[in-house]
Amino acid sequence: MRPVMARIVLKYGGTSVGTAARVRAVADLVAARCAAGDEVAVVVSAMGHATDHLVDLMAQVSERPPGREVDMLLASGEQVSIALVAAALEGLGVPARSMLGFQAGMVTAADHTRAAIARVETGRLEALLAEGIVPVVAGFQGITEDGEVTTLGRGGSDTTAVALAVALKADRCEICTDVDGVYTTDPRVVPEARLLPEVAYDEMLELASLGAKVLHPRSVELAARSNMPLVVRSSFGSHPGTIVRGVDQLEIRHPVTGVTVDLDQVRLVLRGLPDRPDIPPSLFMALAQAGRNVDVITMLVRTGPGGDQLDLGFTVASGDRKAAAEVATRWVASHQGATLEIDDSVAKVSIVGAGMVHHPGVAAGLFEALEQAAIPIRMIATSEIKVSCVVPRHLGLAAVQAAHRRFALHEVRQPRVLAR
Ligand code: ADP
Ligand code: ASP
Ligand code: MG
Repeated sequence: MRPVMARIVLKYGGTSVGTAARVRAVADLVAARCAAGDEVAVVVSAMGHATDHLVDLMAQVSERPPGREVDMLLASGEQVSIALVAAALEGLGVPARSMLGFQAGMVTAADHTRAAIARVETGRLEALLAEGIVPVVAGFQGITEDGEVTTLGRGGSDTTAVALAVALKADRCEICTDVDGVYTTDPRVVPEARLLPEVAYDEMLELASLGAKVLHPRSVELAARSNMPLVVRSSFGSHPGTIVRGVDQLEIRHPVTGVTVDLDQVRLVLRGLPDRPDIPPSLFMALAQAGRNVDVITMLVRTGPGGDQLDLGFTVASGDRKAAAEVATRWVASHQGATLEIDDSVAKVSIVGAGMVHHPGVAAGLFEALEQAAIPIRMIATSEIKVSCVVPRHLGLAAVQAAHRRFALHEVRQPRVLAR
């Protein structure tokens, strides 16, 4: 037997397997890696926009479909692509076996449509690898302890790949996609965006969570927890891509690494609530109990003739709009004089950078850039490594361009000096 160079999990996204020709091209790439001596497990997404079409289809038959049935339907997308990739590999003389989530031992919690991975039972995969067979695993799906099919949430194949890499103790996980790597912002929005040769886990987690859909946020979280090197690269070209990994200390920290936009936000503002200390905890507890994830929050106390009044604003993802609006409507109804404003068309633009904390004036720079581009700011949220502004949705992309320009992210910087 030939010595194994490295054990690698390779993940190919929807565009990468979007057509029969693309499936064959992916098979060629995997075959080349095997020929080079790597031991490879493959994870694939559904072809092209297959998952979007399934989501649309379900919406045409049910307004509130049961999560179980949504998962049953959506999981079918990946079943198509794994069979095609495995068959194409076999055609090239590379032994391969397609595996659904349950066959690959992907055990999840029962929270349909956003299931958390509980563990990966690697027995079958290890046996295949030991026989020199390439497992081709369906991304995005798993199985509960009770044998129910689940999905991990849109974009979740990245998380499948990292979970497999960690469970199989792979040397690295490569996310092969339709861009050359992680850029300072979405290169489709800002053509001058610059490819980042490396990004720290914490920065990447913020970028992904704040809208850079190139990686599923949970995949970055998992990789960081296990220190699994994550490479993002193109499945079309040979560019080395971006490595995402732990960076203990950067001597030169640039204030801003990247810009993101989340175009999928809704803003709710409850005005004229009584200014009592129990109001914020009970409102946000009610939202949490309804299972809604609240994002940016603002709070304002106003002194009025009838005493102090409280205005509470927050954003939620569009998918949570209905449930959040129901809670908020109940709330204003039970507090006399309170009103509710819902703004369905907002976006959240964010700048992210681990170096921000050492550079005063970064937030001010963003506000100034938006002001100069005549983009009004509705809400602000900051942390040590990010500043987010909620802006009108139709100005979201213009806000990204303004921020990218303001921090000159297109300019090639001095190489970072790393102290490890
Ligand atoms: P896949 O189907 O391979 O999972 P995705 O569509 O989920 O691919 O993610 C890749 C896309 O992410 C790119 O086509 C790009 O438009 C978008 N993107 C957003 N922000 C960034 C960024 N900062 N760097 C690279 N790509 C980004
Ligand atoms: N096919 C799934 C989706 O479109 C999972 C993925 O692509 O990662 O969300
Ligand atoms: Mg993706």
